[in-house]
Amino acid sequence: MGRSVLVTGGNRGIGLAIARSFAEQGDSVAVTHRGSGAPDGLFGVQCDVTSSADVDRAFTEIEARQGPVEVLVSNAGITRDGLLMRMKEEDFADVLDANLTAAYRVAKRASAKMVRARSGRMIFVSSVVGLLGSAGQTNYAASKSGLVGLARSIARELGSRSITANVVAPGFVTTDMTAALPEARQQEILGQVPLGRYASTEEVAGVVRFLASDAAGYITGAVVPVDGGLGMGH
Ligand code: NDP
Repeated sequence: MGRSVLVTGGNRGIGLAIARSFAEQGDSVAVTHRGSGAPDGLFGVQCDVTSSADVDRAFTEIEARQGPVEVLVSNAGITRDGLLMRMKEEDFADVLDANLTAAYRVAKRASAKMVRARSGRMIFVSSVVGLLGSAGQTNYAASKSGLVGLARSIARELGSRSITANVVAPGFVTTDMTAALPEARQQEILGQVPLGRYASTEEVAGVVRFLASDAAGYITGAVVPVDGGLGMGH
């Protein structure tokens, strides 16, 4: 009998690879979706992570089906790029809401049951740009950087209950999000990555799965890069 796992944004991209990776090892995996339905073999709950009511309902559905969430992967995220001088406040606020406040929402909702169980794993999917900064992404980079403070504070608050909170910081990964980048920008990025290629979604999933495993029981408050060396030193 596996653990109860929730992956937000697990209906596609990196989140789907993470969800499949847990399912392969026998865990019960729920993924959120916003209307696309669940991918084959995974339990889907409709949930917009910018809505506290949706988050609460989704957790209640998951608890009824597979028990309290033991492994939480906060992965859902958006970009709304633009230079600071032209960025609308709405674009800044929306990205913070979906990427950072949503992580608070799901962590808070998961925490009560984890505290009662005196165990739990929380993994937040950040980005190398949260540490490096990124021109044209003040909103996104701030949200991803904020996840580090969020996770490290949770690590301190809940460590005595054997709950760990860690951050994974991917570099560039082959998904819809990076496919949307102009070709010239993609080549520029590759020139800065020591490994000279994008990550596969499975390479990110493997690190998330490790952080949720028994082998990672003494790792908390860590920021683990999966970036081909792009962010070295940060
Ligand atoms: P995709 O754009 O492929 O997928 C984004 C996922 O987030 C989708 O499942 C989407 O759901 C979900 N999502 C977005 N907003 C919400 C919301 N309000 N409520 C619920 N779900 C939502 O992104 P990736 O797979 O590339 O990215 C996954 C995570 O990894 C993100 O946090 C991203 O910032 C991060 N990341 C990605 C990198 C990359 O190179 N791709 C690099 C570093 C970090 P829906 O299908 O409904 O839109």
